[in-house]
Amino acid sequence: MEIEGSVALITGGASGLGAATARRLFDAGASVVLADLGSSAGAAYADELNAAGPQSLAGHQPAAPKAVFIPADVTSEEQVQAAVDAAVGLGPLRIVVNCAGIATPGKVLGRDGVLPLETFQRVIQINLVGTFNVVRLAAAAMAATEPAATGLGGEERGVIINTASVAAFDGQIGQPAYAASKGGVAAMTLPLARELARSLIRVVTIAPGLFETPMMAGLPQDAQESLGRQVPHPSRLGRPAEYANLAAHIVENAMLNGETIRLDGAIRMGP
Ligand code: NAD
Repeated sequence: MEIEGSVALITGGASGLGAATARRLFDAGASVVLADLGSSAGAAYADELNAAGPQSLAGHQPAAPKAVFIPADVTSEEQVQAAVDAAVGLGPLRIVVNCAGIATPGKVLGRDGVLPLETFQRVIQINLVGTFNVVRLAAAAMAATEPAATGLGGEERGVIINTASVAAFDGQIGQPAYAASKGGVAAMTLPLARELARSLIRVVTIAPGLFETPMMAGLPQDAQESLGRQVPHPSRLGRPAEYANLAAHIVENAMLNGETIRLDGAIRMGP
């Protein structure tokens, strides 16, 4: 799938991994719809992208794409549909990147940080149900487009990239809700990919390790550095641009489908 000339819908596009992916796809010539909670950050970021224009990659200056912010909570069918409609209004929706998510910790026992049932449900609702909500509404819009030629032959309508976490595989103490939500995202990747293959749409999940984003900012700097040193290589936290580069590669590689890819520098989290 060619990025240039495509339209991408990016949830959580106002911050962290989603914002970096929006920039990467925009620079490669995709118009981007940033869907995030209603705040001034998303609108300001879209303005910033439009003002700077795409920064040419490898000497190639793409045709002028657009960046648009749509306030949308991924748990709302109505708001996600409005974001999908905004994307379709810009051209054929070919790329969906689900980055919206929260990581609320909480344990089962003990006086500090016991996880209330409502918190568990909220994490599942945003990370898992919200991702599914975007997948189903976006897939319906993508399925209605004409397929596009892919680089090495064949054609496809688009690709949906979801974001799990290494917590899906080695969740730590205090992460039952987050790990369950991300495990669900990883588990639904294959059935979604198998079904949507019939509509020439791929589904791939990225399971990041530890990345330098506002989600990690709650941790003190020395704790972040210490975590970074536990990454076998490159012995630091991941950079959002590294997530964005993998997302761009997934878009361009038609053989990548139904897979959950760890992007974690080979770290395996202890308890
Ligand atoms: P972030 O907090 O910087 O960005 C998350 C974005 O999601 C925010 O802009 C937030 O407003 C948005 N969001 C939250 N709830 C939403 C909702 N209901 N509807 C719409 N938008 C909503 O965090 P990030 O690190 O960029 O995380 C992006 C994704 O990557 C998340 O799914 C997260 O779980 C996952 N992840 C992050 C890391 C990491 O180390 N940063 C590791 C593994 C997985």
